[in-house]
Amino acid sequence: MAGEPTDLTKMTAAELAAVMAAGATSAVEVTKAHLSRIAEVDGRVRAFLHVAPDVALNAAAAVDARRARGEPLGPLAGVPLALKDVLTTTDMPTTCGSKILEGWVPPYDATVTQRLRQAGLILLGKTNMDEFAMGSSTENSAYGASHNPWDLSRVPGGSSGGSAAAVAAYEAPLAIGTDTGGSIRQPASVCGIVGTKPTYGGSSRYGLVAFASSLDTPGPLARTVLDAALLHEAMSGHDPADSTSVNAPVPPVVAAARQPDVNGLRVGVVAEFSGAGYQAGVLARFGEAVELLESLGAKVVEVSCPHFTYALPVYYLVAPSECSSNLARFDAMRYGMRVGDDGTASADEVMSLTRARGFGPEVKRRIMLGTYALSSGYYDAYYGKAQQVRTLICQDFDAAFEQVDVLVSPTTPTTAFPLGERADDPIAMYLADLCTIPADLAGNAAISVPCGLAPEDGLPVGLQIMAPVLADDRVYRVGAAVQAALEQRWHGPLLARATGLAWPDGGAR
Ligand code: GLN
Repeated sequence: MAGEPTDLTKMTAAELAAVMAAGATSAVEVTKAHLSRIAEVDGRVRAFLHVAPDVALNAAAAVDARRARGEPLGPLAGVPLALKDVLTTTDMPTTCGSKILEGWVPPYDATVTQRLRQAGLILLGKTNMDEFAMGSSTENSAYGASHNPWDLSRVPGGSSGGSAAAVAAYEAPLAIGTDTGGSIRQPASVCGIVGTKPTYGGSSRYGLVAFASSLDTPGPLARTVLDAALLHEAMSGHDPADSTSVNAPVPPVVAAARQPDVNGLRVGVVAEFSGAGYQAGVLARFGEAVELLESLGAKVVEVSCPHFTYALPVYYLVAPSECSSNLARFDAMRYGMRVGDDGTASADEVMSLTRARGFGPEVKRRIMLGTYALSSGYYDAYYGKAQQVRTLICQDFDAAFEQVDVLVSPTTPTTAFPLGERADDPIAMYLADLCTIPADLAGNAAISVPCGLAPEDGLPVGLQIMAPVLADDRVYRVGAAVQAALEQRWHGPLLARATGLAWPDGGAR
């Protein structure tokens, strides 16, 4: 069937690494297979803003040469990866989905970029995203939206929607996203893949173009829990260049993903994340996942986190406040676009013309909200109050984790919505992150794993698993257990059903 991925693009990262280590294929062959898959389907999926075949093939040839010389290689050497266009790269543009940075090629690699290259991962290109990571659908990208591979008329989530779509469409086995309010987990959920938000500070922000610095966290997207863990380990660790980087060993996430055991584990179902606004099929699949955990020996209880209901308003004060400060650096002097510099205009005029033309409507909305919330006279009532409630949310987590080892909820209240449906309704868009935001505000580790298809629309549903700060291994242990049990029930991976489907020439779902 046209639209079906080839054998190499169907493999997981762990499988690809194994066949390359065994000498059955090369990094160059694996890279070529993924580049052809991109050429074949990305006109419809539009996951990438920039594809870099030369960079990728050179890197792949270098890995093959090192292997031929018998040099020691990391566990993911030669595996292709798609990088969200918010992490800096010296050999590819970095636009953050914004016109203000169109064509900008940064002078240095982000720490995450550097670590991936050192680990021998092959960067295929940069993926589409909501402008400066503000959004839940990629519709805020200045370069047009990406499409959900399950149904091309629907959103792939956001803001890391391009990364999630690339992995779900078998254009790359792995991708990097960033999570500020849910931007890894929500797109993973609606694209039927795995996505992790590591503990805040567990992965470096150096070279990650800042949206909200107290929240921004890079993390992995993959088709299996083990693959996500392998990538998590490769990208993480202390970075002296990031002052909020955690100086502690990376939690043993790969070992945990290989040990899918939940017997005796205490699982708390967040009482607040249910009811009105949640799609019936999402709640049904979530309920089954909870029953599954119970059948595997977990002890399930309901836990109330009363302040989680304030997480969304708190986030929409904290994140825009930080963004209004961070985005001040786009002043038409230092980076990218410059409008109206005719030799007579003042610096202020050039700056204001450039920012008016260069930023999209959602970015402008956030800068205005944040500037207002931080302005004198309003600071205490808005920003200050939000920080106080943020502390109450952290205390809810602390109290919950005295009773249970992990908390679970649906990742997002609905399945992938149609492109355009929420584009003119910011509040409806913001609601997509209802369940993911608390873990960002408190800095906890959290994962989204597929837990089935909603009966109403046949689209994927995600289970969110949250653990305490620096207990990232726990979310992988539970995620791997759920994945293993469900794949047995479904006779194979959920995503296999998305293959080749919804393509104009594809078969039925
Ligand atoms: N959708 C949320 C927002 O628009 C979260 C974005 C993110 O995590 N980067 O702010």
